Amino acid sequence: MPILNRAAEFQQEVSEWRRHLHAHPELLYDVEYTAAFVAEKLKEFGVDEIVTGIGRTGVVGVIRGRGESSRAIGLRADMDALPLYEIPGRPWASTIPGKMHACGHDGHTAMLLGAAKYLAETRNFNGTVAVIFQPAEEGGRGALAMVEDGMMEQFGIREIYGMHNMPGMELGTFAIRKGGIMAAPDKFSITVRGRGSHAAEPHKAVDPIVIGAQIVGGLQLIAARNANPLRSVVVSVTQFHAGTTHNIIPEHASISGTVRSLDEGVRTLAEQRIAQIAEGIAGANDAVAEVEYERACPVTVNHPEETTHAARAAIDVVGAANVDTDVDASMAGEDFAFMLQSRPGAYIMIGNGDTAGLHNPGYDFNDEAIAFGVSYWVRLAEQRLTD
Ligand SMILES: [Zn+2]
Ligand SMILES: [Zn+2]
Repeated sequence: MPILNRAAEFQQEVSEWRRHLHAHPELLYDVEYTAAFVAEKLKEFGVDEIVTGIGRTGVVGVIRGRGESSRAIGLRADMDALPLYEIPGRPWASTIPGKMHACGHDGHTAMLLGAAKYLAETRNFNGTVAVIFQPAEEGGRGALAMVEDGMMEQFGIREIYGMHNMPGMELGTFAIRKGGIMAAPDKFSITVRGRGSHAAEPHKAVDPIVIGAQIVGGLQLIAARNANPLRSVVVSVTQFHAGTTHNIIPEHASISGTVRSLDEGVRTLAEQRIAQIAEGIAGANDAVAEVEYERACPVTVNHPEETTHAARAAIDVVGAANVDTDVDASMAGEDFAFMLQSRPGAYIMIGNGDTAGLHNPGYDFNDEAIAFGVSYWVRLAEQRLTD
C-alpha cells in the first residue's frame, strides 16, 4: 500500500494546521494554545472521547473502531517548541520572539491530527486508538508526567508508538532499530574548590584551574579506557568557568557537560567514574570537588516485536527499499523513553529531506513528509487492530 489517497488529500489541510502551530510556538508545559487547538480539532473530527489536562497540559483523543475488541494502542506526538530565535522569512514564521518550533513538533502534532481525522472518519479497525499529544518533550519530562497521571491504565493502552522527523534523511523514508535508538542525555556539573592567591605566588594557592584542567583530561578516559568499546558512551565537557582577571588565582572553578549512553550499565559506570575521577584528582591536589549528576530521560529502547510491527507499517507505505530497519542509534535524547518503559512499543524516524538540522534557527518541518507520516500512523493502527 502506498500513501493513502485520503491522507494525500489531507496534505493541504494538515500543512495549514502545521503552519498555524509553527507561528504560535509554546514551551514545555505552557502549551495551552496548542492543546486547545488539538482538542478543538479532535472535537471537529468526532472522536469519541477527549481528555485534556493529562500530565498538566497533555491531551488524549480516543477513537473506537468497529467491533468489540478491547485492545487499545497509543500513538504519540509532542507539542512543545524551543527557546530559540527563528531566522525570519517564511510566511508562517514564529510570531513569538525567542520561541520556535525548531524540532518539528508542529509537524508531529499536525500529522497525528491528520491520522485522527482519517481514523475517526473510516474506523476501519477493531479496538481503540488513543492519540496522545504530550507537553514538555524538550527536557521537561512531559511523557513521564502523562504516564504518572495514569494515562496507560485510563485508556487501557497495551502498545505505544512514537515518531520523529529527521533532517538529512530523504523524504519518503523511515528508519528504526530494535533496542536502544536514542540515548539517555544526562548532565553533570563539578565545582572544584581550591584556595585563591596572588597569581605571582602559586605556592600559596590551591589552583582550581590547573586541577580542573586535569579533571577534564581525566574524564576523557571514561570513554577511552573504562567503557567497553562495544557500548557507546559520550562524555562531553561543554563549560569551564573560572577566574576574573589575569593576576588572581581564583578560589573555585565550575565544569559541566553531558553524558550520552545507550545502555544502563555504561550509564551507571559513567556516573560513578565522573565522581571518582573528579574527587580523586581534587583530593590528590588538596582541593575538593563537588559533583552533581542529573539523570534525564532513560535510553529510548525499542521493543523487538513492536519494532517489527512499526517497520512493517512503514514498509507498507513506502516500500522495503525506503525503510532502514537497522539504523544507527542517535546520541540525542528522547522523552518518549518514559512511555516505552511503561508499555511495549517502538519509535521510528521519518525523513525530513535536506533541511537545516533539528534545534537550528533555520530549521523547518517539511510539509512534504505529511502524507507519509499520516499514512504510517493509519496503517500501523489498522494493522495492530485487525480482527
Ligand atoms: Zn528537540
Ligand atoms: Zn523533538
